[in-house]
Amino acid sequence: MNELAEYEVKRNRFTNNEKALAIGSRFWHETTQAGLAGIVADLGADGYFSTKENHRFINLSCCSYLDFDSHPHIIQGAVAALQKYRVMDHCISRVRVQMPALLELEDSLGALFGAKVTTAISASAASAGTLPLIASGHLSGGVRPVMVFDKHAHFSMNLYKATCADETEVVTIAHNDMNALEDLCKKHQHVAYVCDGTYSMGGFAPVTDLLALQEKYGLFLYFDDSHGLSILGKHGEGFIRSAMDRIHPRTVIVATLNKAFGASGAAIMFGENSHDNALLLERFGGPMAWSQPMNTAAIGGCLAAAELHRSPELAERQQRLQANIELFDSLVETDQRGNPFPIRLVKASHEHVLAAGVALYRAGFYVSPVFFPIVAKDKAGLRVMLRAGMSESQVRMLCQQILGQRLF
Ligand SMILES: *Cc1c(COP(=O)(O)O)cnc(C)c1O
Repeated sequence: MNELAEYEVKRNRFTNNEKALAIGSRFWHETTQAGLAGIVADLGADGYFSTKENHRFINLSCCSYLDFDSHPHIIQGAVAALQKYRVMDHCISRVRVQMPALLELEDSLGALFGAKVTTAISASAASAGTLPLIASGHLSGGVRPVMVFDKHAHFSMNLYKATCADETEVVTIAHNDMNALEDLCKKHQHVAYVCDGTYSMGGFAPVTDLLALQEKYGLFLYFDDSHGLSILGKHGEGFIRSAMDRIHPRTVIVATLNKAFGASGAAIMFGENSHDNALLLERFGGPMAWSQPMNTAAIGGCLAAAELHRSPELAERQQRLQANIELFDSLVETDQRGNPFPIRLVKASHEHVLAAGVALYRAGFYVSPVFFPIVAKDKAGLRVMLRAGMSESQVRMLCQQILGQRLF
């Protein structure tokens, strides 16, 4: 076998751009043709977006579930930090020189979430830095574990399967398949499981079962709780962190600070006494070591967001979100009915889903139609992301519009 042939045999074991582009191009082409992608619009003070043509709509594809993204206190926090430090970014890896405000933020988030927190510019960068060090055993107790990914794990983690596979064995199992995971735990002494806390198409991790497997087999757990942060927990510590009293030394929780938290960046939560992990990431965590740390505006915005998370405003917004979810559930049936997460997938046939999305947009509600080939033909639907800032009448109007569409 010549060198090239050998290369070809080994390629595309975990990702396949040719396939991904074939699937994605068709989906985006049809979505754009329908006018539901490539929209340019401004957010007004009343919570409505408007386009240059003066089309006004509520954005139900936005992950700012508590509407903190436009909160004046957070905007002011970003501006105040810029004025105080008079620099956007020091243009140097934090391993050498860093701003005191970054450490202040990590302490603040640590106290808020009951964890040792280190930050990254995004959840994507956090996974890029963390997963390979788990695969090599450096963040997982010194022994390379078999890395098991949930089939529905987010792109930002899947992308590093190949990198992890350069360090250890990588296995993908069916979505939430706890039997397959337990079989692997029986077969291998060290196993690490990688999953989302709540999934972008509506499901969530069986966290109680996972903690039981950790207890029984010493399973290492890596959760990306980006959709679960802020919306749940007394201080907005999220779905996964609220499910445990303390963070076990064999658990890592990553979450973006860009969704419900309301600012920018990401938090990586370790157990309380894991200062070495933060240092390891600072030195060897891929983009966390060689790329920019959170910039001044992001740090200031996050410090202000953390203050809001300590104020009564958090519980008020969490409750408003839950009330909107419950109202939606009482009017529109979905498989997600009854769960506390803001993502709902309203089923529709492949033939009608796009037209329904267009009609809703014309009526002032932007939801994302998902359809083949992005999902299987029988799994098409309208993805709706509810928010705390919607009024009761807006939720009712949205539901009325959805029920008025031909979906099948
Ligand atoms: C949105 C999302 C991300 C991306 O977060 P960034 O901070 O923008 O990188 C990563 N993981 C999950 C599960 C997400 O939902």
